[in-house]
Amino acid sequence: MFRSLAAPRTIAAVTDFLDDLRSHAPDLRLLTDEADRESYRRDETAHFEPGMPLAVALPATTEEVATIMRLASEHRVAVVPRGAGSGLSGGSAGVEGALTIALTRMNRILEIDRENLVAVVQPGVINAELKEAVARVGLFYAPDPASYEFCSIGGNIGTNAGGLCCVKYGVTRDAVLGLEVVLADGRVIRTGGRTVKDVAGYSLTHLFVGSQGTLGIVTEATLRLRPAPPPKQTMLAFFPSVESAGDAVASMTRAGVEPCTLELMDRVTIAAVDDWHNLGLDRSAAALLMIESDRPGDAATAELIAAEASCTGAGSVSVIRATSQMEADGLRHVRRLAFRAMERLGVARMEDLGVPRARVPELLAAIERVAAEHDVRCGTFGHAGDGNLHPTFVWERGDDAAETRAHAACEELYRVAIALGGTLTGEHGIGAARREFLAEQVGTDAVEVMRAIKTALDPLGILNPGKVI
Ligand SMILES: Cc1cc2nc3c(=O)[nH]c(=O)nc-3n(C[C@H](O)[C@H](O)[C@H](O)COP(=O)(O)OP(=O)(O)OC[C@H]3O[C@@H](n4cnc5c(N)ncnc54)[C@H](O)[C@@H]3O)c2cc1C
Repeated sequence: MFRSLAAPRTIAAVTDFLDDLRSHAPDLRLLTDEADRESYRRDETAHFEPGMPLAVALPATTEEVATIMRLASEHRVAVVPRGAGSGLSGGSAGVEGALTIALTRMNRILEIDRENLVAVVQPGVINAELKEAVARVGLFYAPDPASYEFCSIGGNIGTNAGGLCCVKYGVTRDAVLGLEVVLADGRVIRTGGRTVKDVAGYSLTHLFVGSQGTLGIVTEATLRLRPAPPPKQTMLAFFPSVESAGDAVASMTRAGVEPCTLELMDRVTIAAVDDWHNLGLDRSAAALLMIESDRPGDAATAELIAAEASCTGAGSVSVIRATSQMEADGLRHVRRLAFRAMERLGVARMEDLGVPRARVPELLAAIERVAAEHDVRCGTFGHAGDGNLHPTFVWERGDDAAETRAHAACEELYRVAIALGGTLTGEHGIGAARREFLAEQVGTDAVEVMRAIKTALDPLGILNPGKVI
């Protein structure tokens, strides 16, 4: 329904829109060169073919964003909000003839309010920069996608990003207290605020988080901070099969062990990382779990002992513990390298399945079976403690047959995840890449409710058309 309405169709209409933008927002940085537009065309969803933006706007203020949206509404021009472009569902990928609005210049940390444990930031702030800034005053911003060194807070809010320590601290939504949002017609609203509790009306804050730029453009966020936890204790456990690693995860959940990180890498991913960085990992293992505790002192030691008991009970063959913070950082880095290591092997399609935690072993077995049946190379890693795994299919560029088999395997796995009571995307989003499968998971009535919300907020369908619904 919204795909039909996109950008102006004639060169004259495009020129009128851009002229209007230049006259109403004279300081707005606007890129129209083909090379510039090309560089904002893709996000990190390598298998998804995006459209070419009509131009790229780089606003510096909320007022500029509001002016862009007012004019986009008047001229019926579609827009694509964009953060750092690291998304894995085509959410910020270009739409043919639409204006891409990159929020990267709105990158200031406006305030760190220690008394209320909040930070107020612009959307272009990089996740790692916020973490560092609050750490300098003894505080902690929890959401930590593996891409934290290069993804933006606006993109994290757009996708409701997860990460390595969600298992203990929750996802981005749990850290967002309030937003400033520019609506499709250029109006600016504020939702939530610095209060920990707030039930005045519907929770618009939570509605915008995860909406992938289809309901409004976030221009400011009030984020929840915590006191900095103690340094983490870190261990790796190696397993003879992926199912036994999955059993260890299920056993920890049953035993009430709550580490702050519980990540998995399978044999293919271990080899890819080790080939790249020569880390001396145990390549005979079928899987490893990275487990961390950030409880104070002895409590962390006790937590890792309990985690180790679960691992041993499930059949782990060896365990190594970091003996210093430097070693712990090194082990953590191993996991963060996983996707880039897989990308070195060819075109990589990373999936994002989520299942109830007790069903992780079944999901892992299904991934191995489906990859073998479709004869595709697949490495699996991810946030096992959340039941959120990233089977990543790889094929040689230009091998169309392998690509077709990989896509078929992904579709089968969506159905497996749904049948296990799970989701086809735990943290990357429906975006453009998974859109046709949404109804299979949530049902057509739920999609209609989503469509009604979309129509109420964006009646012209100009905000990120072709994404999510
Ligand atoms: C190596 C690697 C590791 C990754 N690891 C993780 C991980 O562990 N967990 C995880 O969740 N993701 C992960 N990702 C995916 C990605 O980094 C996240 O989805 C991230 O939140 C995207 O942020 P971004 O700034 O790049 O946003 P973009 O990709 O530019 O945009 C993402 C979505 O948000 C929307 N958006 C952006 N800015 C705004 C705004 N200001 N207002 C409204 N909408 C907006 C866009 O329209 C788009 O739909 C990983 C990606 C890579 C490449």
